[in-house]
Amino acid sequence: MIPRSFEYYSPQTLDEAVSLLQKLGPEAKLLSGGQSLIPMMKLRIVSPEYIVDINRIPDLDYISETDGHLRIGALAREHQLESSESVQSKFPILAETAKVIADPLVRSQATVCGNLAHGDPANDHPATMLALGATVVATGPNGKREIAIEDFFPGLFTTALEPEEILTEIKVPVPPPRSGGAYLKLERKVGDFATAGVAVQISLDDAGVCTRAGIGLTNVGLTPIKAKQAEAVLAGTKLDEATIQKAAETAASESQPMDDLRGSAEYKRDLIRILTARALTRALDRAKGGA
Ligand SMILES: Cc1cc2nc3c(=O)[nH]c(=O)nc-3n(C[C@H](O)[C@H](O)[C@H](O)COP(=O)(O)OP(=O)(O)OC[C@H]3O[C@@H](n4cnc5c(N)ncnc54)[C@H](O)[C@@H]3O)c2cc1C
Repeated sequence: MIPRSFEYYSPQTLDEAVSLLQKLGPEAKLLSGGQSLIPMMKLRIVSPEYIVDINRIPDLDYISETDGHLRIGALAREHQLESSESVQSKFPILAETAKVIADPLVRSQATVCGNLAHGDPANDHPATMLALGATVVATGPNGKREIAIEDFFPGLFTTALEPEEILTEIKVPVPPPRSGGAYLKLERKVGDFATAGVAVQISLDDAGVCTRAGIGLTNVGLTPIKAKQAEAVLAGTKLDEATIQKAAETAASESQPMDDLRGSAEYKRDLIRILTARALTRALDRAKGGA
């Protein structure tokens, strides 16, 4: 289908983009990679009056590491995560997540920030960012503000961004030594959204005791879910097999899946149990120096 007609704006600076969003009001939609927005416009699920395309704003396509954080700019595309050395060496979970998003064509355009800003619980990066304890930087008429990722998804397809704000950066703390992460997703076929997915990031102390655990769940609720009770099961333990199984069962009980074409709620809940145990085992191997 063809989208309804709209007015198109192509600001050259961030200030100009924010002013446009302010002037045009809630009928304006920001366009970054277009991999969710354009299909929704073609299907006429959304029909914005105005499009504010930020692709011509320079210097927003960075992935860099400063002040103990990996910083992902608004126009950094998914494929950049797969080829970033810093991501490969310190954040294998991010590269692993990018690899299972859609297909190479989509990943060449889709932005990591757009993946969060879309607010879709089926998207893969929200769970990963929940596990990593990321912070979202929003730029609006009053400058920048930071939002903890666990406060960023208040409801279905809703984020904590104000209509005139742009998600300009994701900040991910660089994990300490003896840390490891993993993202596991079951999809019906390559390129599909998750039937269910689990992101895990853990850190160990010198004695192998878990000092921090982050667990995010994909597509098993109205929002991406931070499995806080499962995280609490892990903290302060040595992550033996029994603890891993207990955390996996707890994560499953925190999921809120629904029956749909991808499977029954019961099936998805059990999937979360299995994927959590596997992701924890892989994260533990990586924290101990494995690949
Ligand atoms: C065939 C196909 C398969 C897909 N499979 C997957 C998958 O397996 N896993 C997955 O996670 N995703 C998947 N997606 C969805 C897609 O990868 C992401 O949702 C998408 O990339 C969002 O990023 P974008 O830059 O393309 O955003 P856009 O489509 O440009 O925008 C999406 C929404 O976010 C808003 N927005 C975008 N950027 C910003 C910003 N910087 N600040 C504020 N608001 C912003 C827009 O206004 C719009 O409402 C798939 C998409 C397609 C077409």
